[in-house]
Amino acid sequence: MRYDYDVIVVGGGPAGLNAAIRSRWVKRYKAIPCSTLLIENSYLGGLTSWRGCLFTGPSWKMEGKDIVHRLLKDVGNLKIGVHQGRVNRINAKGEIKEVFTSDGKVFRSLAVIIAAGIKVLVNERDYLGRGLEVTSMGYEFIVSHLKKVLSRRWEPRLAVVGSQKLENLIPLIRELNIAQSPLLFIMEGGGEAKEDVLRGWVEKYWGDGQLQGLTVWTSKGPRKIRCGRVLLDFNSYELAPSWRMEIGAETLGSPFIKVNQDMETLIPGLFAAGDVTSGGYNSFSRAVSQGMAAGLSAYRYVFHKKFGTHPPLFAYRPTDFMIPSDFKELPPLREDLLPVSLLDQKMIKSSLERKWVGLLSNFNGRVSIGEIAKRKKLNSEELKKVLKRLAEKKMITFHVEVDG
Ligand SMILES: Cc1cc2nc3c(=O)[nH]c(=O)nc-3n(C[C@H](O)[C@H](O)[C@H](O)COP(=O)(O)OP(=O)(O)OC[C@H]3O[C@@H](n4cnc5c(N)ncnc54)[C@H](O)[C@@H]3O)c2cc1C
Repeated sequence: MRYDYDVIVVGGGPAGLNAAIRSRWVKRYKAIPCSTLLIENSYLGGLTSWRGCLFTGPSWKMEGKDIVHRLLKDVGNLKIGVHQGRVNRINAKGEIKEVFTSDGKVFRSLAVIIAAGIKVLVNERDYLGRGLEVTSMGYEFIVSHLKKVLSRRWEPRLAVVGSQKLENLIPLIRELNIAQSPLLFIMEGGGEAKEDVLRGWVEKYWGDGQLQGLTVWTSKGPRKIRCGRVLLDFNSYELAPSWRMEIGAETLGSPFIKVNQDMETLIPGLFAAGDVTSGGYNSFSRAVSQGMAAGLSAYRYVFHKKFGTHPPLFAYRPTDFMIPSDFKELPPLREDLLPVSLLDQKMIKSSLERKWVGLLSNFNGRVSIGEIAKRKKLNSEELKKVLKRLAEKKMITFHVEVDG
């Protein structure tokens, strides 16, 4: 089966952006960049494009949006494809992975990196501080936070949105609802609606600059709900993430995806990075470093699939390397092994061409095309075509001797 991209990255937060850039930009002589597609449902930058979300260290901080701005520059310069849409299913079992999106598209690739954070984002960013507020960083301050929200009556209602773990908060909100706001709890995911608990997925928040309501996709179709305020319980997603896509979470580890130090999941060719993975504290810096590691691992995986050998990425992974006696230069990549949707044919072609030039430099002096083809196990017709192309571009020079 043909494939469209070498690598597909699901989610364009700091983990996904860094994974995509890393898979496309490998510092190695003669490296062949992967063709990479990034799929994001909301704004590129993920949570770090939100106001107040900073890149924090122990004693320093940087604006998240400044870093995102820099990363987006790379996305543009490296011609990384971006598809705006929601991934609703990944079929990762075979050699060629299939990624299905909510707008009916199917993208095929050799490797997939899941960097979907803890929730699929919509347009929360547009209404933050304008009628939408979030809980995050654990439940330590939850009582004082809820008391403040519930001290006034919200008309026509207060909507509280969260994952299945919103159930932790419901009794407390009911108890603290002093101003008697009409309440609606929206739990993202499947299950049955009852009384004031609705099950479904928030599709968007809307209003005239100030939040007026939200649209929820329920099992009976879309439902528009007016509300005076929305409390988005991010803590609940930190406990039980919801990505609104089928990824076989049972096999990958639940509720978060299990990875090893190379960001490999249990399925070959499937990688994960950032908040989507288990066992760490959620932060920008962790997302960035895991994203880069996943990008590099996907690169190694794709390279191995194409050439049957691992790329010697010297700067990144120390190897105690002895050149074996049967060591051979990499053969040039066969045209039919190139993915269909090469975003930057030129960049990849020129890497391949440099590889050809390197290979041909071993044949200084008089040598027949047949001999080169034989020694390098190549098809001589294809070799003739390549030589012609390289000579036209003045990348090599050769003199032709015609027999007879
Ligand atoms: C309110 C708040 C404040 C924070 N402040 C800080 C801070 O000051 N310092 C710090 O270090 N960290 C902070 N964090 C944590 C930090 O933002 C996250 O750890 C980091 O953004 C995780 O990066 P990520 O790429 O893994 O996920 P995200 O940033 O969540 O990005 C994931 C992306 O994947 C997309 N996605 C999900 N599912 C799908 C799908 N099915 N199809 C397509 N796209 C999908 C989402 O829309 C999202 O854009 C904060 C978090 C919150 C909630």
